[in-house]
Amino acid sequence: MIEFKNVSKWYGDYQALVNISAQVTQGEVLVVCGPSGSGKSTLIRTINRLEPIQEGKILIDKTDVHDCGSIDEMRSHIGFVFQQFNLFPHMNVLDNLTMAPIMLKRARKRDVEEHAQALLERVGLAHKANAFPGELSGGQQQRVAIARALAMKPRIMLFDEPTSALDPEMVNEVLQVMKGLAMEGMTMVCVTHEMNFAKDVADMVWFMDAGKIVEQAPPADFFTNPQTDRAKKFLADIR
Ligand code: ATP
Ligand code: MG
Repeated sequence: MIEFKNVSKWYGDYQALVNISAQVTQGEVLVVCGPSGSGKSTLIRTINRLEPIQEGKILIDKTDVHDCGSIDEMRSHIGFVFQQFNLFPHMNVLDNLTMAPIMLKRARKRDVEEHAQALLERVGLAHKANAFPGELSGGQQQRVAIARALAMKPRIMLFDEPTSALDPEMVNEVLQVMKGLAMEGMTMVCVTHEMNFAKDVADMVWFMDAGKIVEQAPPADFFTNPQTDRAKKFLADIR
């Protein structure tokens, strides 16, 4: 469903992605991990073209992401959840969810609002529809951010360290929502340091180092039998 073919990316003369070839299949939950600066955010941001690439191709269902007609159309199928929640601060929760679908999908306002209400219910925040982001906790804001991404009915969800900015007691409520999505069969790419989430939920783990995917394995193998010294050290350090 997502296919990297010999993808390389440079920031100036620094090569951040080195000849990446790998695939994510439909319905798969992928966890991307690795040390700071290894290229995880860069990799995930190339999937919806937030970062350009200089070599190779990224295909989503055969569409070349970096050489396709409309960026907006392509992005409308891909939800992105960031470390910082990036909600629109001057809009209430419901408007945060409905703005993009109304503008970009030209859907009927009533249908969009009904769907948004259902999504808020699903993330446990139906009672906050009229609240403003500043009135919510970090965990609540991040759940709204997930619901907002889902409001576009994406085929793929990308998460870049969605729990890293949260107080510890709020991490689980966000991971639970992600777990629910995974169980419903959503295709997910998650950059995260939550290794228990990776163990419980991921179908596949990619371990990155210095711009390369140096290990690619199901969690049961990656965590019990890492192949490289780099991954062994990484796992030892985060334990
Ligand atoms: P972290 O775990 O700290 O989030 P990461 O694995 O997500 O790290 P990236 O943010 O993808 O790493 O960065 C990969 C490399 O590219 C790093 O060396 C970083 O300094 C560099 N880099 C990232 N963004 C830019 C940029 N906009 N301009 C120049 N260099 C960049
Ligand atoms: Mg990062």
